[in-house]
Amino acid sequence: MENKNCAGCGVALQQENPDQLGFVPEQALSRTPVICQRCYRIKNYNEASGITLNQDDFLKLLGHVGTTDSLVVNIVDLFDFEGSMISGLPRFVGNNPIILVVNKIDLLPKVTNYNRILNWVQRQAKEAGLKVANIVLCSARKNMGFERVIEALDEHRKGRDIYVVGATNVGKSTLINRLIHDYSDLDAELTVSQYPGTTLDLVRIPLDDGGSIIDTPGIVYKHRLTELVNKKDLMKVMPDKPMKPLVFQLNSGQSVYFGALARFDFLQGERQSFTFYVSNSLEAHRTKLEKADELYENHKGVLLQPPVLENLDELPKLTKHAIRIPKGGNLDVSISGLGWVKANGVQGAELAIHVPRGVKVAVRESLI
Ligand code: GDP
Repeated sequence: MENKNCAGCGVALQQENPDQLGFVPEQALSRTPVICQRCYRIKNYNEASGITLNQDDFLKLLGHVGTTDSLVVNIVDLFDFEGSMISGLPRFVGNNPIILVVNKIDLLPKVTNYNRILNWVQRQAKEAGLKVANIVLCSARKNMGFERVIEALDEHRKGRDIYVVGATNVGKSTLINRLIHDYSDLDAELTVSQYPGTTLDLVRIPLDDGGSIIDTPGIVYKHRLTELVNKKDLMKVMPDKPMKPLVFQLNSGQSVYFGALARFDFLQGERQSFTFYVSNSLEAHRTKLEKADELYENHKGVLLQPPVLENLDELPKLTKHAIRIPKGGNLDVSISGLGWVKANGVQGAELAIHVPRGVKVAVRESLI
């Protein structure tokens, strides 16, 4: 055991005291790499939390939450707000208060007025019929706004358990890991276990005061592009840096492709600008509307990618959505999992959005 360090956190390993940092049980020494018990648990917590559920099972789970006296933390992804909202959440969780945690605010452009964003989220939540005790903006990954998450938990928890619910990929594990570090006393032993007596795959993370954070499986929504692409393309579709808005001055009769994943047609309206908020890794190709089909046929999977040609069949066929932006509208067209387009003109516009069949396209008040 001499001079050995944990491959996870770097702490010196020891076998003497299970209550002290760096403890590693005998049987774990034969594993490579050797990691301390604490890292082992955190690591396996992550594995456990990778479980997902379909809509029906998820609703059953929410029904279970409704029978408890607890605080519900619903994490949504600001990059895919419409796509990651859980419809009917209040109905299923009964009288339990809900805190809406809006994650990934680090993806917004560098200069962003967060108060405006917060007001926008409040209006959207209201419109969706979601009554919440509190709304908090944060970035679990970049540790932005996290103190407000903790404050909201402290204010509304009142000793109760905290159920954390969310769609897949919203950053639930990242956020819970941060909560484990900031909210529970890590010097105390961290034990993460499957919730006993249920088949719901709940993961219970005890807090110091006897309560628990309960992680629930992520719900899979097939209307999100992020659920339809493969892992490699997911990295291109999901931004990982602040988005640099792409501004296009377009005349009617022009189209813009984003890889072979989406096509935007400006069918009718005065010349105007459109701002695209998508991952910086996605390339845009502008073309004439009359050439757009041909461009796709000749260049899909090659010039127009992702996905690459051999993976194109994995994706449902592009399907057209007719969208009307009324006069004076300050509106976005959101494409679940891909991002959104802001229509900057006040004259109105007729658009067509082509996305893989099933992907949710929605018109909303502009976020930015
Ligand atoms: P889960 O499926 O909801 O548990 O989500 P994960 O925590 O596994 O995160 C899904 C993806 O989103 C990963 O690629 C994370 O790195 C990323 N992610 C999580 N939180 C944030 C965040 O605050 N900002 C950004 N930009 N990405 C995040």
